[in-house]
Order: sequence, then structure tokens, then C-alpha cells
Amino acid sequence: MKLENFSFEKDKDGIAVLTWDMPDRSMNVITESVISELNLVVDEVISQSSIKGCVITSGKINFSGGADLNLLSQGAKQYEVARLEKGEEAANVLFFENSRKLSVLYRKLETCGKPFVATINGVCLGGAFELALACHYRIMSSDEKSKIGLPEIKVGLFPGAGGTQRIARLMPTGDALQFLFRGEQLKAKAALTNKLVHEVAPTEEMIDRAKIWIISKGKAQAPWDMKDFKNPSGKVFSATGMMIWPAANAIYRRETFDNYPAAKAILHAVYEGLQLPIDQGLLVESRWFAKILRSKEAMAMIRSLFLSKNELDKGARRPKAIGPVALHKIGVIGAGFMGAGVAYVSALNGLDVVLLDRDQVSADHGKEAVNKLISASVSKGRATEADKQGILQRIETTQDYLKLRGCDLVIEAVFEERIVKAEVTRRVQEVLDPQVVFASNTSTLPITSLAETSLSPENFIGVHFFSPVEKMSLVEVILGKKTGDRALATALDFVRIIKKTPIVVNDTRGFFANRCVLNFIREGHIMLREGVPPAMIENVARMAGMPVGPLSLNDEVALDLGWRILNATKKDLGEKAVDPAQEEVLHFMVEQEGRFGRKNGKGFYDYLAIGKKSLWPGLSIFAQENFNSGLIDISEMKQRFLCIQAVEAARTIAEGVVMDPREADVGSILGFGFAPFTGGAISYIDGMGIKNFVVLCDRLAIKYGPRFTPPELLREMAAHNQTFYPETNSVFAA
Ligand code: NAD
Repeated sequence: MKLENFSFEKDKDGIAVLTWDMPDRSMNVITESVISELNLVVDEVISQSSIKGCVITSGKINFSGGADLNLLSQGAKQYEVARLEKGEEAANVLFFENSRKLSVLYRKLETCGKPFVATINGVCLGGAFELALACHYRIMSSDEKSKIGLPEIKVGLFPGAGGTQRIARLMPTGDALQFLFRGEQLKAKAALTNKLVHEVAPTEEMIDRAKIWIISKGKAQAPWDMKDFKNPSGKVFSATGMMIWPAANAIYRRETFDNYPAAKAILHAVYEGLQLPIDQGLLVESRWFAKILRSKEAMAMIRSLFLSKNELDKGARRPKAIGPVALHKIGVIGAGFMGAGVAYVSALNGLDVVLLDRDQVSADHGKEAVNKLISASVSKGRATEADKQGILQRIETTQDYLKLRGCDLVIEAVFEERIVKAEVTRRVQEVLDPQVVFASNTSTLPITSLAETSLSPENFIGVHFFSPVEKMSLVEVILGKKTGDRALATALDFVRIIKKTPIVVNDTRGFFANRCVLNFIREGHIMLREGVPPAMIENVARMAGMPVGPLSLNDEVALDLGWRILNATKKDLGEKAVDPAQEEVLHFMVEQEGRFGRKNGKGFYDYLAIGKKSLWPGLSIFAQENFNSGLIDISEMKQRFLCIQAVEAARTIAEGVVMDPREADVGSILGFGFAPFTGGAISYIDGMGIKNFVVLCDRLAIKYGPRFTPPELLREMAAHNQTFYPETNSVFAA
């Protein structure tokens, strides 16, 4: 048996150890060749009478990240070839058979008559955890870094290699559905409590213990193949089942607004599968899986949230000619809300940080904020006391610019005032070589103009974090007119070290993310002024796929900030650049009522010390007489929310602010939560077809105003039947 991805050895007791260790890869993944080699191994174990059982282990620090999602685009291509050569029906059959290869293989392993044990070290996710679930016994490493999970839902898929069926037969139905819906990852203790693994052991003892299990009691039969097997929650059609299923349906609706076909497929697969013997259950799961694989949502989510995101993380936009930049120590100026966050994520990822503020007290205050963040992680069990001490030791606080000596990069996060930023730039350059890259975290000031205060504008760049820094994974890297390649490479290397995803944009008012998201907020203000009930505005935005409504979001970022931006825009670009309805709403809220948002406990919502926030009754001032909310066209409201952001994203591409649609898509999901099931703001346009989008925008522009007018670029692309993703627009995306 010739294997490339595994080694296979048999010991004196007749126990085989299959070690998964793919050459030239840091992580084991499931590929075509892994599937065929696993098939060979199972055949070998079955056919060799001297083999008593088999332990599957990994030769890497992680077990495996699951299936290589590139496999899926190959599936779409194979389908297209078969369709052309053999017709649609034959292509459908082939596609179905291919999509359930892994499921069939795992069932073969499970029923082969010899015991298999999985020893799980590091992460074991997706199709790899489904492999472990098909083994008769699972031992998980007690190491803190070990995790199991089925995160497929996060890219618009669901576990299609037995995951839904085996999980639903191991856990009570409610817990199983939650585990599948959330795609969460469990550490060893939780995995054991939930009976997803049988045993937890130190990494180095796992193989011995697996062998002991095989020799002493190794039974090659899954619980669901035993005669007396009962589902943990009993029958679907039972009193318990009737408590579970109506609620599950309601939770599904509440969480997804029916936007995610994969989540619905999980409900179906579990509900239908639990009423059947395992083999039929697996078949049902396969049918749903093949359907979801062909969904527009899965294709768009895989492309943006997996393929494009990975490419950006790996430096798709990094200048190739510049070698890796050595970054050991960075300076963070301004130890406020953002500065403390930047210091935290930097120290968390091993960088030494000099945290500087106007005075020692302010700098220490920033470190105290870091202390709170890491302490919260420790108390939740996500970090250890040693991690905490390490992080705090790496951060030195000061008011003395000389302490910046030796820094490889400086990031400023001081007040949003030109004069303060210019002073900081000057003082940094008094102590550091102007060659050291200087990054500004400004959210509104053009980088090109800030760079004019630097002795070396080619080393000046924007690194725009989102708040809260420790949670938000996007960083906008902004190029000023004179920013050089070395500054860009340095910024991207830094973003990579702190494990965030970068998008690179050219300098413009609001950069990329704020331009789009401010449009979303403005649309909410305009609807309010039209007389749409505020609760409806909030709910319909969420139905459209946004994580929160525009009024909530505005309360979080502060209404007075929005009011200041509106006034600055008016001052710089003239009266016509602002929307009068929005101006009226913000003027009323901020100037007249002093409602600034969550920060002063009153915005569009009231925030009480105890209890939930609630919409402020005073918003009734915007109610219109004779307004019949029953006549509101909900689907048009949803379109307004998404279109107004997507059209702005398209403008940023037309203007050359964003140069790559992947960045607009990934940036829109990670930066402001643009309806993930669409694949992002540009995929939303592509998904419906540029022609249809242009027609929709024109219709909305006639009805609601020129803010919906699409850029010329879209009209031209529509006229030439072009798309933003000619390569990956799948044959299935119908
Ligand atoms: P903040 O007020 O919380 O912190 C600013 C800090 O800068 C304070 O600690 C202050 O003492 C310090 N500071 C002021 N002048 C200084 C000087 N001359 N030298 C050294 N330190 C000085 O503000 P923040 O919310 O952290 O914002 C900081 C920057 O980040 C701004 O440019 C802002 O536009 C940008 N930003 C903010 C957010 C956000 O959501 N808050 C998001 C993205 C970007």
C-alpha cells in the first residue's frame, strides 16, 4: 500500500497506527488523495486478518482543519464537464455521488468490523471531526489548544459527512442543533461533558491508551448500530419531540430570518434523519448536502469568507519585491480606547510594545485597560495566568519619546485632531529614524494630508482599526499618495502578526468601510423621517441580514459623532452633500434633545442601568399621520438597506479606492457585518447579476432619490454582461 499523506505501521499486537502527516503542508486537510488513501487503509484493515484494530493519529501539531474547500470548486467544474458531455441528469447523479464520497467512506470505516480509534491533538474540525465521529472511540488531548468542532455553517455549508446524524445521536437534540447551528469549537473538558469524546488524556499518552482500549474492550460497533440504541432525546414524534421541534423552528427563524439555506438544511437533516435508521439518515443528509453545495449562498460565502479571506490574510496585496519585515517592538502613541486595544492585540501576539501618552497616568490607564481585557479572558478560561503576565510584561508605559528607540513601527491613536497628530509625528521623528514606518489610526482625516507633516511621507501609512480592536478582525490599510511599498509591506506584515485580515484602500473621505456603513445608518434616519415605525426599521434591517439595525448601530458609534461628520461634510463639500432628512433627524436628537447614543445612556434607545435597552418613545415625533405601516413593502425596505451599501461599495471600486472586489467583499462582512449570506457587498451585486442590480438601483433612485444611482462602471459592466468574479461564478449560482 503506497501512501503519501499517511504512514501506516503495525505493532507486535496487531494494532495499526495510521499517522496523518501531509507533506509540504502545515495543516492536514481532506483532499481527493486523502480520501482515496483512507479508502485503501480501510480495505487493508479489513482484509488483513493479523490487524486487530487501527489508531488514527496526526503527525502535526493539529489533527486537521477539515476539508480543503478548493475541493468544492473542483466539484462544480466536474459537474459542468459532465453536463456538457453526458447531459444534466447524468451530471446531477455524478455530482451527488461525488459529494457523498466522504460520507460513504466514513460509514465503511464505521461498519468494517474492526475497531478504529481517533486520537485528537490540536484542532480537529469539520470533515476531520466527522472522521473521528465515525471511529468507535475518541481520545482527545488535554492540551489547552485542542479543539473539536463542526464550523461548516460559517461558510454557508453544513457537516455532510455524517456530522448531523452522528451528533444528533450523541447529544440531546436541542444541544446537537445548537452545536451544529453555531459551528462552535469545544475544548477537551466540554467535549467530554457533551459525550463527543470518550476520554481525555495527555497528548503523549493517547496512542498507548488507544491501543489499550482496542486490546481490552475494543468493540467495532457504533452505538446507533446496536439493537437497543435510543436517541438521547427519544423519538421525534413524542411528547419530548413536540417540546423540541416547534421551538427549534422558531429559533432557526429568529437567528437566520431564513437567509441561510444551510441552517435550514441542518434542521431538515436532523429532523428527518432521526426518524430513520442511520444508513437512511446518512442518505437524507447527503441529499441536503448536495443541494446546499449548489446554493448561491454557499458559493458566495466560501469564496469570500474562506478563499478570499485566506488570500488576503496571506498577503495577496503585499508588494512582492519587499522581503519580510522584522517586527519585534512597536510603539503605540495614545493609550486611549483604540491605543490600548492595539497594544493588547500586539502584545498578545508576541510583540513588545511601548505605550506612550501625554503623561504617565494616561499611559498607565491604557495598560490597565489591557489588564482588564486579558483578565476577562483568563476568567473565561480562554487564557492562562501565565499568558496574562507575559502580555503585561511586554507592554512598557511611558510619556518619554526616547523610549521609542528601537521600535520597528509606530502607530498613533491620539485625538482626531490634525494639530495633535502633526505634533506627535514630529516628536516621533525627533527620536526615530524617519525610515521607521509611521502609521495613523485616523478614522476620518485623509492620510495624504497627514503625511505632509512627516519628514518621509513614503513611510507614512494609515492602519485603520475597528472598535473594539480585540474583537474586530478587519484592518483597513490606507495608502496616501506618496506611501511607498516598504510601508505597505510593513503594515501588512504587522496585520498578519496580530492575526487580523487586511484590505488595502486608497485615500478617500471615509476610506471604504465607513463610507458604506454610514450609508446604511443614513437610510435608517431617512426611513424614520418618512414615518416608518422605528421598531420596523430595526427589524427589517436584521431581516435583510445586518447584525444590528441602523438606529442601534448609530447609538453604538455615537450620534454626536455622526452629527459632527455631517457638519464637516457640509462645510467641505457644500449643502447638497448632506441629506436634509438625515440632518433634521440628527439635529433633533443631538442639538435639541442631547441624545448622543449609548455613551450618555440616551440615543434612539433608552439605556437603563438594569434591564434591556428600549426604543425611545420620543421618536414618535417622526410618526406621520395616516401612515399605514401595513402597506410597507418589506422586501423593498430590505433592498434599500443592502443596495445603499452595495452601490457605495461599487463606487469605491469605480473610483479606484478599492482595487480588488475580494477586498470589498471581505471588508464589508468583517468590517460592518454586511449580510454574510450574500458573500459581501460586491457579491450581492454579482449574485443577482449586475444588470438586475442596475435596474433595481434605477428604480430605487426614481422613488427615493439619486443616492441610489449606480456608477457608470456598473452600467458598462451590465452592457457587456460582465461580472466581478468571472472565474468563480459557479455554474450552480442560479
Ligand atoms: P481616546 O480619546 O480614547 O484616546 C486618545 C488618547 O490619545 C488619549 O489617551 C489621550 O490622552 C492621548 N493623547 C492625546 N494627545 C496626545 C499627545 N499629544 N501625545 C500622546 N497622547 C495623546 O480616542 P480613541 O477613540 O482611542 O481614538 C483614537 C484615534 O483612533 C482617533 O484618531 C480616532 O479617530 C481613531 N479611531 C477611533 C475609533 C473608535 O471607534 N473610537 C475607531 C477607529 C479609529
